Amino acid sequence: MRSSSVALTVAVILATCCPDWSASADESAPLEAGWAITDITPPLGFRLSGYFRERRATGIKDPLHAKALVLRQGEMQVALVFCDLVWVPHEISVRARRQSAARTGLSIDRISILATHTHTGPLYYGAMRDLLHRQAVDASGTDPGEPIDYVPFLIERIVAAVDQANNRLRPVGLKAAKLRQRPQISFNRRYHMKDGSVRFNPGVGNPNIIRPAGPIDPYVDVLLFTDPGTDRPLASLTVFALHLDTTGGTEYSADYPYYLEKHLKAELGEAFVSFFASGTCGDINHIDVRARDGARRRAPELGRLLSRTVLRAIAQARPLDPSLKLAHTTLYARAQQYSDEQKQWAEETLPLIVTRKLPFLERVRAYKIADLARFPNGRIPLEIHAVRLSRETAAVTLPGEVFVELGLELKRRSPFPHTIVMELANGAPAYIPTRKAFREGSYEIVNSRIAPGEGERMIDEAVGLLKQLAP
Ligand SMILES: [Zn+2]
Repeated sequence: MRSSSVALTVAVILATCCPDWSASADESAPLEAGWAITDITPPLGFRLSGYFRERRATGIKDPLHAKALVLRQGEMQVALVFCDLVWVPHEISVRARRQSAARTGLSIDRISILATHTHTGPLYYGAMRDLLHRQAVDASGTDPGEPIDYVPFLIERIVAAVDQANNRLRPVGLKAAKLRQRPQISFNRRYHMKDGSVRFNPGVGNPNIIRPAGPIDPYVDVLLFTDPGTDRPLASLTVFALHLDTTGGTEYSADYPYYLEKHLKAELGEAFVSFFASGTCGDINHIDVRARDGARRRAPELGRLLSRTVLRAIAQARPLDPSLKLAHTTLYARAQQYSDEQKQWAEETLPLIVTRKLPFLERVRAYKIADLARFPNGRIPLEIHAVRLSRETAAVTLPGEVFVELGLELKRRSPFPHTIVMELANGAPAYIPTRKAFREGSYEIVNSRIAPGEGERMIDEAVGLLKQLAP
């Protein structure tokens, strides 16, 4: 074994056996919170992410934001940053957290940066971005699809949001609620078909559908921050498991969380701030294949329906006795392995992934194999943050588009009665399917990077962190 792989093995063992640190607050100290919002909308003309074709932004439906939320109790402090982006890759999250840490004194392990997964935000990294960027530069010497260098711009805006939020800490009341979403607006998008296969998005009214291949998570989690004197709602965090691709087109938009906030502001005042994070929705979207009229609800209606549940949750939310405590770890998950021939095929096929010259899943496969070059040592860092909010309530941030079964398992195995699970944090490892889904196949499996079983291992790690935090 070469010394570099010995070092890697040691690092992996260290990183997976124990949390990097954990600490708890002085429970008699008051809870303080601060928040700040910065604009992360690129100029028009920037490429949009979310599909296997090139789109350029032609307008702004609503601006994209980085929303930072800082919590402090005594010496214990944590920051969450919610970004209207499809992903925040690990290396960019590390750079943004290092700079935020330098500015605020928070350690980088106490900061978690999440993407909401909007499909109407910029395409700014990864194999598809690199391909389109290279093609543009080869053709004309410049890339009109990237009118600015977006990564430094994004990092600067994230750092500014964390810094401002940290400077605005004030005592708050904390409440929580968990309510079932009615009417149902989220659906498992994988189906058992009459030919024995499992297919994603088989189409509204498809007569060959037998039944969904998995569940949904029908619950909306809400954390509420209030004025401790008047009990007036100041800000909320909503977590719901429903994929954010309900807008389409070529205008920037934060998708349905924008409309959620709009309705909450209309009820609770313009100064009210709504944070949103995706629950585990790797296999969930808004398409009801049984809908007779074939209707798909779009972002404005989804945001409105969700806001009704959130407003009920805010009215019913129960006060928590804050008891801030954190735990963090990085799991170095095994990546899928491909032969040199397959890698060469992917490189040669890559220019076709944004065309229709190959079947869709072949394009996805080529893109995935090429994109795995981002993880040259065959390991994908999966950072997990667990935050205890009170003796009954905890929140976890996980990377990737996590299958809902894994999130439900984490909630079931958590020692906390109310566990809030957020995905798309601090990394872009694509889909995190279950072992069962790996056997069944279809799009999310073809577009996954991690090896089968690593999703279950991530949940084991998260449960371990929560057990350390349990009273
Ligand atoms: Zn997606």
